Amino acid sequence: MGRVLLRLLAGLVLVVVVLLAVLIFNTLRYKPEATADSATPYELGADIEQATKDLSAAVKFRTVSTDLEHPDFAAFLTFLQDSYPLVHTTMSREVLARQTPLYKWQGSDPSLAPILLAGHYDVVPIAPGSHHLWEHEPFSGVIDDEFVWGRGTLDDKGAVIAMLTAAEKMIADGFTPKRTVYFSFGGDEEIGGLGAMAVAVHLNEQDIELDWMLDEGSFVLDKVIPGLDQPVASINLSEKGYVTLELVAKSAGGHSSMPPRVTAVGRIAKAITRLQDNPVPGGLTGISEEFFDGLGRHFSFGQRVVFANRWLFKPLLETILAGSPTTDAMLRSTTAPTMLTGSSKDNVLAAEASAKINFRIHPRDSVADIVAHVRQTIDDPEIEIRYDESLANPASPVSSAQATGYLDIKTSILDAFGPLATVPGLTIAATDARHYGKAAKDAYRINPFKIEGSDLARFHGTNERLSIENLETGINFFGALLQKQ
Ligand SMILES: [Zn+2]
Repeated sequence: MGRVLLRLLAGLVLVVVVLLAVLIFNTLRYKPEATADSATPYELGADIEQATKDLSAAVKFRTVSTDLEHPDFAAFLTFLQDSYPLVHTTMSREVLARQTPLYKWQGSDPSLAPILLAGHYDVVPIAPGSHHLWEHEPFSGVIDDEFVWGRGTLDDKGAVIAMLTAAEKMIADGFTPKRTVYFSFGGDEEIGGLGAMAVAVHLNEQDIELDWMLDEGSFVLDKVIPGLDQPVASINLSEKGYVTLELVAKSAGGHSSMPPRVTAVGRIAKAITRLQDNPVPGGLTGISEEFFDGLGRHFSFGQRVVFANRWLFKPLLETILAGSPTTDAMLRSTTAPTMLTGSSKDNVLAAEASAKINFRIHPRDSVADIVAHVRQTIDDPEIEIRYDESLANPASPVSSAQATGYLDIKTSILDAFGPLATVPGLTIAATDARHYGKAAKDAYRINPFKIEGSDLARFHGTNERLSIENLETGINFFGALLQKQ
């Protein structure tokens, strides 16, 4: 009896030892890839003081996308002409829909497919009642020791100024790209991007297929991700789609003193509860796995054990990641009930009750998949599901993290910032890149600016600002990127 027990124990110890050995072996092999060869960042040598003044001046134009008729849209384009004379004599320029300029910098080798660098200069309005919270007037473009302040500095005039400053300096230095490089600055990104759409159509009509394009959609995140000490550049390969479903329940209505057991309002409430209890299936596959696999390599040894041994810990990891809205949004299509209607009087039964549920669609799902999920989950044939097809967008295709464009962007990030982590990611909001992507083999999304967690509230919020250091690094990034073309 004792001998059997001993053998069992010895067997158990052996299993544990082998398991530990496998876990440690996998963890040791799970390393970040080698990054920049040089610790000295690349410098283009552009005039940063001038660029800072240009960004400040750019902020002063009230290019608010809720007021597209404002003369500042046309005035902004004239300002670009005056500020970047070499760009405007070297490149050809057309102005397409919504005051969106498309520049063409002719390359020396016509056999190479062109690329497009994009940004936008329209901005979101200042939320009513938030004016007094701004440390500096939102359209004043105040420059202090560290920052340029104002609406649009981060989103997205900073990138526009960085691109043009880099191009102007390179033309002055006598540089001509081998590939043709297009630049496009959308005038209505914040309200749907008809300008970007027009650019894609324009390129398609001329049979021009871009090798790749780059737009906003992510940043170099510094201490934004808990547990990660070093900055990480998330170069996003896709952006989520969008659909809002309206659930409608009808009933006879009538006086509330004799209600049926199930009312229209009750039906809708039950449907919402079911949808919240049963999120759209998701997990660590495809682009979600690529992102967390890249990220996991930069964590501490203890955390790497989990990421490196997903064959064992995947369910645990998925549960942990699903626990926070930020990481959950990277795993699946999200479900957000946002609007409700019912009766207009407290003592009258609703003849019709409805709810609007906004879904942000992961690249693995289609709009039809979302509708099917909702129908199956609410399991109530009495509820009608409606949606406006013209407002529904699937997620954009997932671009390659091995293609030239991705590698050029990644190397240029390392050139400009020095060693840091780079990962392929997913944009969870919508950008113009979804339109431009229709004219490109691959579409990538990142702004070459380093932001911290506290900066996230500045987007579309109060006290938007860009540091002068960021502006300089951004110019160097675009310089390094253009040198490779
Ligand atoms: Zn933007």
